[in-house]
Amino acid sequence: MKFQSVRGTHDILPAEAAQFHQVESAARNVFERFGFEEIRTPTFESLSLFHRSLGETTDVVEKEMYAFEDRGGRKLALRPEGTAGVVRAFVEHHLDQIRPFCKLFYIGPMYRAERPQAGRYREFWQIGAESFGNASPAADAETLLLVQTLFDSLKIKDFQLKINSLGDEKCRPLYRRALTEFLEKEKSNLCEDCRRRMVINPLRVLDCKIDGPRLGGLPTVDAYWCDECRSHFDSTRNLFEKAGGRFVFVPKLVRGLDYYSRTVFEVTADISGAQDALAAGGRYDGLVKDIGGPNMPALGFALGMERTVEAWKASQGESAPGRHRLVFIAAQAPEVIAEAFQLLEELRLDQVLRDASIDIEGGFFEKKLGAQLSIADRLGASHCVIVGQDEIRSNEVTLRSLKTSSQERIPRARLISRLIE
Ligand code: AMP
Repeated sequence: MKFQSVRGTHDILPAEAAQFHQVESAARNVFERFGFEEIRTPTFESLSLFHRSLGETTDVVEKEMYAFEDRGGRKLALRPEGTAGVVRAFVEHHLDQIRPFCKLFYIGPMYRAERPQAGRYREFWQIGAESFGNASPAADAETLLLVQTLFDSLKIKDFQLKINSLGDEKCRPLYRRALTEFLEKEKSNLCEDCRRRMVINPLRVLDCKIDGPRLGGLPTVDAYWCDECRSHFDSTRNLFEKAGGRFVFVPKLVRGLDYYSRTVFEVTADISGAQDALAAGGRYDGLVKDIGGPNMPALGFALGMERTVEAWKASQGESAPGRHRLVFIAAQAPEVIAEAFQLLEELRLDQVLRDASIDIEGGFFEKKLGAQLSIADRLGASHCVIVGQDEIRSNEVTLRSLKTSSQERIPRARLISRLIE
């Protein structure tokens, strides 16, 4: 019987894991500079948390949840996104009482039963951040700047940051009504999904891959903003621009989840053959209260790791960072296994070699020397250190270049500096 990874999931093999790591460490670096601290929350939560926070009529809740009942009859779901769990933890642990504001980031897998395709998985990784307790446009501009800095630091080519404001609970209903009236007239031209969306969640029609681009003359939200929302968005734009922000205003931009209010944004880049949305986020001032917490403004974003890694690889081109150098330790005869093993582990822990990105491998000491050299070659080692009885007697080792096959005897005490050379 042969097993395969489940449809929509994927293994992150070592070469790709190293790329994930690069993206993660760039993100950690930027989060640190912007004062965000890490939070880790469970991969499953109560199903009702997601119903409450994401909205009952969103695609994620309606069609994409991995919901299940555990043995105790509890209704649970694998998290489809990170915000709900972070907000739940924020409220549960009263983090608002520890500081006047709170900035958190997370890295972890998310689960959505979507139709798998290039760049779209059922288990995928997100890096995200949430910032609680600041209603000011400065917080929106800061999050936008953080996102831009992150993609800049990865040197992602030609990414685009699209921003919009969805208004608030005062002005959004007016827009919703105008949009519904417009859609009523266009009903016969709408796709089947949108005819349903039109009634339960008309803003989602703007997001529709079929109808979104096709419908001309759609009313856009900017014509319906109340004074407060207009001024909040104008300030956000100004502050962001003054701090070096690069963006396009897209009044048709909406988000798939219900909890957003005011600022929303999306980062896209051209990744051939894959989904182009790399990251998305926005303000969600009502959510903390909605799930039983204090009345507290908040905003956040999440980026998709798989797509960001793709975009990062495409942007790196030839200049992808080189691999570490590898040095292989071999034993000439079974009598010197203990010495060879000791040298292998000593070099492996040596800080000078580590700082110079020189990795040490070995441990096939029972094999013939020729077989050990061939393993070294297949691993891509540049050099081999050979431990032999003669060498041990004179406190030396043999250093062999696997490229030129030339070798030299050197004092053991000079080995590290020689390897660095
Ligand atoms: P969302 O939580 O839907 O706003 O998505 C934020 C980001 O997560 C997107 O821009 C994608 O980069 C990524 N993402 C969302 N869904 C998937 C998926 N099914 N597979 C891979 N990445 C995804």
